[in-house]
Amino acid sequence: MKCDYDIVICGGGMIGAALATLLAPHGFSIALVDGHKPGRYDLSQKFDLRISALSPKSAQVMQQSAAWEILQGMRLCPYKRMRVWEVAGFGDLTFSANQVGVAELGHIVENRLVQLSLWQALQSNDNVKIICPASPEHFHRDGKTMRIDLDTGQSISARLVVGADGAQSKVRQGFGVGVNRGQYQQACLVASVNTQLGQQDITWQRFVNTGPQAFLPLLGQHGSVVWYHQTDHARALANLTNVDLAGEIMAHFPAELGAIEVTEKASFGLQKQHAQSYCMDGMVLVGDAAHVINPLAGQGVNLGFQDVSSLAETLKKARNSGEDWSTIGVLSRYQKQRKLANSIMLHSMDAFHHGFSQTGTKSKWLRNMVLASAKVPLIKKQIIRYAMGI
Ligand SMILES: Cc1cc2nc3c(=O)[nH]c(=O)nc-3n(C[C@H](O)[C@H](O)[C@H](O)COP(=O)(O)OP(=O)(O)OC[C@H]3O[C@@H](n4cnc5c(N)ncnc54)[C@H](O)[C@@H]3O)c2cc1C
Repeated sequence: MKCDYDIVICGGGMIGAALATLLAPHGFSIALVDGHKPGRYDLSQKFDLRISALSPKSAQVMQQSAAWEILQGMRLCPYKRMRVWEVAGFGDLTFSANQVGVAELGHIVENRLVQLSLWQALQSNDNVKIICPASPEHFHRDGKTMRIDLDTGQSISARLVVGADGAQSKVRQGFGVGVNRGQYQQACLVASVNTQLGQQDITWQRFVNTGPQAFLPLLGQHGSVVWYHQTDHARALANLTNVDLAGEIMAHFPAELGAIEVTEKASFGLQKQHAQSYCMDGMVLVGDAAHVINPLAGQGVNLGFQDVSSLAETLKKARNSGEDWSTIGVLSRYQKQRKLANSIMLHSMDAFHHGFSQTGTKSKWLRNMVLASAKVPLIKKQIIRYAMGI
């Protein structure tokens, strides 16, 4: 039976849209379904709260279409150094781009602008139809054809349904895929700030008893402050006025921050979640639909970009060799490449979170030894390469 599309991607966030940019130029016909359009961009807009540290490997995915160039024409901020330290500890560690001979370690980007630039890059491709606003309601299987009923009353068919619809994935639930999940007793406050100090090229993270405190630079004298705390406390901070919150941040954050003005703020609960399976015949999961990790090291979306690269390569190779690329036999090659790697990152973030939550002297000594050992040049270079995804 002839399908309307080869692939329906449910969720056109950063990950679903990136997958469409990799597959459409290779002849796959795609429908990208999302409930919301990314807002348009203009230079006078305030910086968004939802930002990410995009690794060079993720940037490489966007460079395969016009998306990266479009994003560069909007705004993004390169960073050249990363510093990690613990209050009163001796493991103060700074990683820098020139230690591995590259221009930058990554870019701080606004999530909406990454999504918008990917959507704009897709507009010139006839193989992609964006269906928005729309949500999938039901999924049916008819032999090798997957049928998706949308809340618009429309029904579309494809050989493969991709779940790129985030942590609460309807695709994952609709196909009955279970998850292992856990909740951290912490939340993080995220605040957009104007800084009195000039533009900075460093991201830093300081560990204190209550949780990490971090700074991510944005263009000009702007940045993002992230403050992990017990859930109630993080929520209470988010409910303060901007002026009172700025006072609290300046009283508790390191001197590196200087004077700040808060322009926007919100708190986010922290969770971990991993799908028990990434695929079955006619269905596959990518990005947060498959895995949600503690954002401590800012790796969530970068794992999603690696999923996208791996899945696109798997599908292209299988199709070129004449295989039925929508079957579990092919899709499980992608799962094999990504599930263990994502699981290792999820558990590393867990260990990091718990390791830094212990207040005993022995634990403190141990984690400072770990930070200090990372000063050994060879180990340091390896850590930088791992963080950059190279
Ligand atoms: C506080 C915080 C800070 C973070 N910081 C970083 C960081 O610095 N670096 C990093 O790499 N990661 C970070 N992350 C993680 C990162 O934000 C996620 O990994 C990333 O957004 C996942 O992208 P995604 O496209 O898979 O899912 P999403 O961003 O959730 O996108 C899902 C898309 O699907 C659409 N959708 C969902 N459900 C439906 C539906 N039923 N119908 C139609 N459309 C639907 C949505 O509209 C959306 O467009 C952070 C997360 C948090 C909570």
